Amino acid sequence: MNTEKSAALYNEALQYLPGGVNSPVRAFRSVGGTPLFMKKGAGSRIIDEDDNEYIDYCMSWGPLILGHADAEVLRALRENAVNGTSFGTPHRFEVEMAKLVTGAYPSIEKVRFVNSGTEAVMSAVRLARGFTGRDKIIKCDGCYHGHADCMLVASGSGLATFGTPDSAGVTSGNAQDTLVVPYNDPEQLEACLKKNEGSVAAVIMEPVPCNYALLLPGIDYLKTVRGLCDRYGALLIFDEVINGFRVAWGGAQEYYGVRADLTTLGKIIGGGLPVGAYGGRRDIMSKIAPDGPVYQAGTLSGNPLAMAAGVATLKKLAETKAYASLREKAELLRRKLQPVLQQHAGRVLFQQLESIFCFYFTGAEEIKTLDEVKKCDMRLFAQYHRELLNRGIYLAPSGYEVGFLSLAHTAADIDRTVAAVVASLKAIL
Ligand SMILES: *Cc1c(COP(=O)(O)O)cnc(C)c1O
Repeated sequence: MNTEKSAALYNEALQYLPGGVNSPVRAFRSVGGTPLFMKKGAGSRIIDEDDNEYIDYCMSWGPLILGHADAEVLRALRENAVNGTSFGTPHRFEVEMAKLVTGAYPSIEKVRFVNSGTEAVMSAVRLARGFTGRDKIIKCDGCYHGHADCMLVASGSGLATFGTPDSAGVTSGNAQDTLVVPYNDPEQLEACLKKNEGSVAAVIMEPVPCNYALLLPGIDYLKTVRGLCDRYGALLIFDEVINGFRVAWGGAQEYYGVRADLTTLGKIIGGGLPVGAYGGRRDIMSKIAPDGPVYQAGTLSGNPLAMAAGVATLKKLAETKAYASLREKAELLRRKLQPVLQQHAGRVLFQQLESIFCFYFTGAEEIKTLDEVKKCDMRLFAQYHRELLNRGIYLAPSGYEVGFLSLAHTAADIDRTVAAVVASLKAIL
């Protein structure tokens, strides 16, 4: 595979951009080699600067559920760009987007649009604190909520629930108001709520964690969490930046039948443009400025082009049998992978939920906790990633990331992918 032009651009990028990138995982550090510079996407395919073509399962880290360069998203962008790119005034597309989002999520009575998932989480946390008058937030270890200071906190060694900064530049003051508990462990969550009774504003989690590989919630775990939040007067924030409009039209809340007080969204709702959102109960949302005392604003929030791309994406998801079709594709992939997975049983595991999937190099039969992910062989994943890349399959460049199917992936794509998986596993195991 010739990747000369990508390599040259990367060398140049290294002189001007930290690590040559604008988001760290893109730098390929955990899989080795140098990042590929993409110049074009179409449907399930991406093409790099050296004209190598790949079947893409990164899909811009989740947003592109319709595939690359979807015709209707492009039409919405073209038609509206000529009218201007930003006004800093209200715009009809904001209302249209808000109707679509509140229509999909019964728990979201009002919504505020922002520019990223990080911003959505940061604002939802501030709102939860402003609404409850409490300071502490409980998060689950291994859930990613973007890079706001209060979320860059990991469980400290020793005391399970004592948060420590997970990044330089995050103050211990910031970390001490974030308590960390393990995912899929209701007892520890309850113990933490009890110990901090009266001071926990919210529990935040990804209902289906997708940022430390893919973890699946245990039976009734999310319902138990809901009950605990009610008992201790803490708000429940579901971070559905990935799950939203992905696992179902109404996200994980529809899928598992659990209602959050506040929900954060991003990725898919921007149709490939920068958008985030947070929303929830009317009484909570009424605390946001200008209705209430919790300040939050944005120069480009609700940007007409971003909203137009989001509206086009959500309308297409609503009007086609999108989720049945995505499930069919995912099941086809799983079925066709079955023989090769069986052949390598005890060395590699494939988990999938709807159109989200993950390969783990592990002897475990199921992965539900962070500790189980930590035992996976990430060196093997790096080799696997390289082998697949050489065969024209693009997975996100880290074993801690998940893969996404889109409506644009075809049965022929899946056949090619499975053949590449067979050859790649044979090469490394
Ligand atoms: C991607 C992601 C975020 C952060 O969104 P950005 O748009 O990258 O800031 C937050 N939460 C979850 C669950 C995510 O997957």
